[in-house]
Amino acid sequence: MLEVQDLEVRYGEALAVRGVSLAVREGEWVALIGPNGAGKTSLIKALLGLVPHRGAVRFLGRDLSRRPPWDRARAGLGYVPEGRRLFPKLTVEENLRAGAYTRPEAEVRAGLEEVYALFPRLAERRRQLAGTLSGGEQQMVALGRALMGRPRLLLVDEASWGLMPLAVDLVFQTLARIHREGRAILLVEQNARRALAHAQRAYVMEAGRVVLEGPAARVAQDPRVLESYVG
Ligand code: ATP
Repeated sequence: MLEVQDLEVRYGEALAVRGVSLAVREGEWVALIGPNGAGKTSLIKALLGLVPHRGAVRFLGRDLSRRPPWDRARAGLGYVPEGRRLFPKLTVEENLRAGAYTRPEAEVRAGLEEVYALFPRLAERRRQLAGTLSGGEQQMVALGRALMGRPRLLLVDEASWGLMPLAVDLVFQTLARIHREGRAILLVEQNARRALAHAQRAYVMEAGRVVLEGPAARVAQDPRVLESYVG
């Protein structure tokens, strides 16, 4: 469903992504791992049109390479950013609504119902300010907000970052459920072991390039990966 060819992201003189090609198939869960500064976040942002890039991004048969971010979102790309990026002074429900603010009210309500069914705890806290929630709950809001846009492919950047172990479990269980319901996931993760345990395929990035790719189980057994990230 997603095909990326020779993607390049440049910040001034610095090349952060150096000719990356990758694909995500319909309903697939793909992990993108690699050390800090490898270019994973830059790649995700480029797919969403949030940073300028060269190279081709095709999604569901459409060429999105020159489309602005809102067009890519409308085409079915959802985004869960690193650091969650909630509005701390808005309520849970207001944050969720921000994920679908251009949609008719009936669709927004249907989306809210879906998200509250997935996260009953958010339903209980819908009037609470997002900034007062625990890290795990805030991550649920960030996931829920992305689902409000009814994405076909969810791009998730470091969803487990900074969370307690129990909250990390909950995030992965939730992603597994979202995946079972038919959505594709491209997951950037520092927690390589967890990411590789859930994903079907994986790409390893280093210094702006894909240095290894394949079935997640095989990538998890690769000596370089074992040594560097799984350990
Ligand atoms: P992390 O897991 O730490 O976020 P990453 O693999 O996601 O790492 P990126 O954040 O994409 O890597 O960064 C890739 C390179 O681009 C790094 O060298 C980083 O310093 C640089 N970089 C990222 N954003 C910018 C920016 N806005 N301006 C200049 N350089 C940037």
